[in-house]
Amino acid sequence: MAQPGRLGASSPAQNGAVSAEGTPYSNGPVQNTLMHSQVLVSQGYSSPFPESYPHQIPTKTPLNPASGLSNYGDSQAVSSLNSYQRPGQTLSRLPLEPNPVTPLQNTIPLSRMSSPPSSQTPGAIPASSDSFLYGPNPSLSSNWHYGHPQVGSKINHFVPVSTQPSLSGNTNLSRNNQCTSLGAPSLQNNYMKTGSISPPTNQPLPTIFQPTRAPIGPPPSGGPPLDPQRKISNSVPPQPQVISTVNQEASSQLTNQNPKMSRNVGYSYPSLPPGYQNISPPNMSERPSTTLQYTSGLQPFSQSPLGANHLTTSMGGLSLHSEGLRVINLLQERNMLPTASLKAPVPNLHEDIQKLNCNPELFRCTLTNIPQTQTLLNKAKLPLGLLLHPFKDLLQLPVVTSSTIVRCRSCRTYINPFVSFLDQRRWKCNLCYRVNDVPEEFMYNPITRVYGDPLRRPEVQNATIEFMAPSEYMLRPPQPPVYLFVFDVSHNAVVTGYLNLVCQSLLDNLDSLPGNTRTKIGFITFDSTIHFYSLQEGLSQPQMLIISDIEDVFIPMPENLLVNLNENKELIQDLLKTLPQMFTKSLETQSALGPALQSAYKLMSPTGGRISVFQTQLPSIGVGALKSRDEPNQRSSAKEIHLTPSTDFYKKLALDCSGQQVAVDLFLLSGQYSDLASLGCISRYSAGSVYYYPSYHHQHNPVQVEKLQKELKRYLTRKIGFEAVMRIRCTKGLSIHTFHGNFFVRSTDLLSLPNVNPDAGYAVQMSVEENLTDIQVVSFQSALLYTSSKGERRIRVHTMCLPVVSTLNEVYLGADVQAITGLLANMAVDRSISASLSDARDALVNAVIDSLSAYRTSVLSSQQPGLLVPFSLRLFPLFVLALLKQKSFQTGTIAHLDERVFAMCQVKNQPLVYLMLMTHPNLYRVDNLSDEGALNINDKTIPQPSILQLSVEKLSRDGAFLMDAGTVMMLWVGKNCGQNFLSQVLGVPNYASLPLYMTYLPDLDTAESARIGGFISWLREHRPFFPVLYIIRDESPLKATFLQYMVEDRTESALSYYEFLLHVQQQVNK
Ligand SMILES: [Zn+2]
Repeated sequence: MAQPGRLGASSPAQNGAVSAEGTPYSNGPVQNTLMHSQVLVSQGYSSPFPESYPHQIPTKTPLNPASGLSNYGDSQAVSSLNSYQRPGQTLSRLPLEPNPVTPLQNTIPLSRMSSPPSSQTPGAIPASSDSFLYGPNPSLSSNWHYGHPQVGSKINHFVPVSTQPSLSGNTNLSRNNQCTSLGAPSLQNNYMKTGSISPPTNQPLPTIFQPTRAPIGPPPSGGPPLDPQRKISNSVPPQPQVISTVNQEASSQLTNQNPKMSRNVGYSYPSLPPGYQNISPPNMSERPSTTLQYTSGLQPFSQSPLGANHLTTSMGGLSLHSEGLRVINLLQERNMLPTASLKAPVPNLHEDIQKLNCNPELFRCTLTNIPQTQTLLNKAKLPLGLLLHPFKDLLQLPVVTSSTIVRCRSCRTYINPFVSFLDQRRWKCNLCYRVNDVPEEFMYNPITRVYGDPLRRPEVQNATIEFMAPSEYMLRPPQPPVYLFVFDVSHNAVVTGYLNLVCQSLLDNLDSLPGNTRTKIGFITFDSTIHFYSLQEGLSQPQMLIISDIEDVFIPMPENLLVNLNENKELIQDLLKTLPQMFTKSLETQSALGPALQSAYKLMSPTGGRISVFQTQLPSIGVGALKSRDEPNQRSSAKEIHLTPSTDFYKKLALDCSGQQVAVDLFLLSGQYSDLASLGCISRYSAGSVYYYPSYHHQHNPVQVEKLQKELKRYLTRKIGFEAVMRIRCTKGLSIHTFHGNFFVRSTDLLSLPNVNPDAGYAVQMSVEENLTDIQVVSFQSALLYTSSKGERRIRVHTMCLPVVSTLNEVYLGADVQAITGLLANMAVDRSISASLSDARDALVNAVIDSLSAYRTSVLSSQQPGLLVPFSLRLFPLFVLALLKQKSFQTGTIAHLDERVFAMCQVKNQPLVYLMLMTHPNLYRVDNLSDEGALNINDKTIPQPSILQLSVEKLSRDGAFLMDAGTVMMLWVGKNCGQNFLSQVLGVPNYASLPLYMTYLPDLDTAESARIGGFISWLREHRPFFPVLYIIRDESPLKATFLQYMVEDRTESALSYYEFLLHVQQQVNK
């Protein structure tokens, strides 16, 4: 497994190389076409049930086939589905009743295989039943190339198809697409300025060194002089005020802090990886021998950063993952789903390095073994990319305040745990290999208060760290937090009754809005006209100003519309109390959303900040007015589903907003089609968030009311960063070429984020541009520069280190199937927009087929029968099938267009963990929860039931099962469910008295109730979207929805997991 061939081969040349690449932050204001395509979708507004349930869209539904509302299905897939009618079809649906426990699959296999679905001739695709997955010529047209687009064009990763660069935004990261001036207060300049902090060159150390320390050996020749006689002196160098861990909540695993761990310099310890020897911190007795080795100057350090010896050991580590080496025949081994949450694979690095590595919840890569060449990557047929959750709430975060932020002079990388120290005065960048000086200040360790030990600085001990940025990082003083709320008050809006809830929620949380004494707030309402509210000090009550000329909006008395929150709190509270009543009589049905947004933009331009827009219908007048593209009559015959925006107004305005550091968050509460594909652009390109509440009604839809309430509370009080930019760097040789998420790509790789929030996820695709042949490890670093709500300029940095491998087998062994699925989902959204939904679906399927074919032909030596997969990819077919059945990509059912678009938006903008849940939900049996293996959090016992496969086989009528699909939870209660559960948890005497469905769990004073209540609350914690809960009995109409999540079962429009495996096998083996 190791790669003996490579290990010794580290080339000196590679190392000392100082590359001039990595130009610092470029400034230009930037551009836009680059945003990726996003789309949003939402949940079920046409639900036949009273409380419309978000994920309604039955996939399998004969349930509401006729509901005229929906004709969003992809025609192509639907029609091909029809060809799939077979006797077996009914299988999928209801095994529940007859005999839930019988393993259906087992009865199916062989006879099935010979029947239609297993198509005979590989070539004759369309005819076979498998054809539902494919168009006429699947394999040729439908895969995507993961690599960097060859030949100069940075344009499109979806090589074969897309010819449609502009609207799909981020999809195309074209270097040519520099947008010209957006009038941005060019933050990049700030960033760039940092170049000015070039490290001091060889400044002499303080003349006094630590008294108790053993003398340090002679420095490398050419290195700065280290005087062994020096003694420490408190008075000498500038003292960084540091540090220390502060902040936020968090995963205990986070920073892997290991204060004990210290790396020594150089490679002189033969027995340990160079640079990573453990030494006991204060005891310097071993030091001399280390430093003694420096006598030959640079020469000894000419090996690659972490050294060959080190990697040798680490490669041996493969044996640790013996299970990982297994080859699995998926047609035989059925229970591949782990019973606990699937963990990210651990990169195969020496444990001392891995200990310091970034938490995978924040930063992970689709391939934890990086292929050393693009050729090797191409062979693997797996996408290479990163998934990030950079602003996640953390419990512990080291924050460093220091006048010098140490960065590579060449590529601007922040010093991190994976750089190598040539000696105490020089470090080599792990991204570009430039040798940099260690600034004098860095010689002082603020934690130990000791000089001369740069290795114990928090910057080199923590893969995640935050810096307080000095003034070089700001072009203007940090902006104050500014919040502007824009409310639709048309008749339609009044009918929903949302305004009352939102105003009340604001009143409740006014003091919890992140901010400081400079916080400003303002309000705009609109219908066919635009209304401003003067909150000028001294007024006895708010003053309303109406602008009826929506063709040329202007801002009346701008100085009194955004006011200081603390100084004008009473007026603001007055307004929030009266606002809901002010329009109750309104009969105005028009909606001038576009002009309202324009005025909001104008109002916010001078400062930047956050606009929160609440909209309840299709905008009907003024700029940005939209026409319904909902064509109910076309249904399945619809050739095109409208995933692309119908106007560029919202995108353009979003870019203007981005230029002024304004982000727009959209709350869409609508029972009708509102063209989220167009409206969503306002948030996508301005780095905002989108929330969707289909069929919101304050009385008729209590579930949505609860959802809005909970989500608003989080929205209003969660952390926020302003005027942010994010840059992702990677080791020379790798190249980032496509970004996914809500932002605007300014220069080639600088993401503009007027706002950043803890719930946003991002993904990028990468390629190998130059061979990494002489490199043992590569690193990735994201740096997010933002202004906190307290007005501090901060930089949050995450760095991840991964090994480079030379064989295909190693690439497969390191595959991170969740990250791959997440990245593919992002790519498929782009593909749906640039090409078509069916094309995206084909590409997803081909991703499985191609990678498993490559594995079979290039890695496996003997051609055994079956569908053979590496252990790391054992869930790949399942997750891809789950994607095909997910709302974003499903066909054959009538997904409402806005719902689909909202689901796509979530794919693009959610952190991986939530994306996976909405794709492949977790199913638990919960009627028999026990404390065995339970977590104990804050004195609460949180049971940890096993995760079950998503098949009705796993259900039984005498139990109760919880489906956690991320944004919705369903608790199905079987007919013969135990009396104890019914009375102690649900509070009903018997099954018959259980309503068809309930939307909350009664709060009973029983141990059982506490257990399940604790479990559900724990699951809900910290989610960006509040998962509503439905408790359903077997006869409930919502049962169909519950069954829809059973990914492994067949539906009328989609294969069962087993059938899908047969299909894949057949393609792989042909
Ligand atoms: Zn560098």
